[in-house]
Amino acid sequence: MCEGRVVIVTGAGNGIGRHHALEFARQGATVVVNDRGVRRDGSGGSGTPADEVVAEIAAMGGQAVADHGDVSDVAAAEEMVATAIDRFGRLDVLVNNAGILRDRTLVNMAEEEWDDVLRVHLKGTFAPSRAAARHWRRRAKAGERVAGRLVNTSSSSGLLGNIGQSNYGAAKAGIAGFTIVAAMELAPYGVTVNAVAPGARTRMTEGLMAEADGDLDPYDPAAISPLVAWLGSERSAGVTGQVFDARGGTIGVYEGWRVG
Ligand code: ADP
Repeated sequence: MCEGRVVIVTGAGNGIGRHHALEFARQGATVVVNDRGVRRDGSGGSGTPADEVVAEIAAMGGQAVADHGDVSDVAAAEEMVATAIDRFGRLDVLVNNAGILRDRTLVNMAEEEWDDVLRVHLKGTFAPSRAAARHWRRRAKAGERVAGRLVNTSSSSGLLGNIGQSNYGAAKAGIAGFTIVAAMELAPYGVTVNAVAPGARTRMTEGLMAEADGDLDPYDPAAISPLVAWLGSERSAGVTGQVFDARGGTIGVYEGWRVG
């Protein structure tokens, strides 16, 4: 479905982002695998999570390159988008997925924990999106048919709440608002903007899973990737400004979860 599409997935060295990158590659896309993460043994050099995902895609016979930039650094985000354009001629899809957690109850939350979470998610969505939007506008103005796709990552934490995540919830609700506005602004260029809102996976849910003797389906984050790939495909042209509940049937609010 994404044959020949040029896709950036941020924060794609681990978790959900890695699944998105692999799904796009499986569907025939060329993928820029962004992740600022360092090698798992903590040392510098190659062999980072992004490099490992690129190797996985190459082993599948796909095409991918790594980008190690911090998505919340405007210059690095612009360089990442330029990498896709320089290497592969254009950008079709940007999946903003990079994220961090700094869970803490509001009364104990440090200013830095607030700032870091808002910076990585909000500036880290804004900076790559603006670079991509400028690229798409330029092509549209030149008369090209652009099927640009921006897919953001919100969270049930931002839409329903999750104890210990006032910072994360604020950022993820902000991403939902950004999605709705950007969808209106970019529609004239042939660009859709949507978001997916995965469920949270916490120590609390693991406790619940154990209690339910396996009667609760374990939440599989990889299950969201086909939706993200569809939103990135040309087929989803009629869908924009939507925030998709992608909790997979899991609950969104966890009571009694203890954080420091
Ligand atoms: P999840 O389980 O929700 O997918 P992970 O922590 O496994 O979360 O994945 C998030 C990824 O985002 C990590 O690999 C992390 O290195 C990456 N990341 C975090 N902050 C940034 C950033 N500022 N720029 C690029 N990548 C980032």
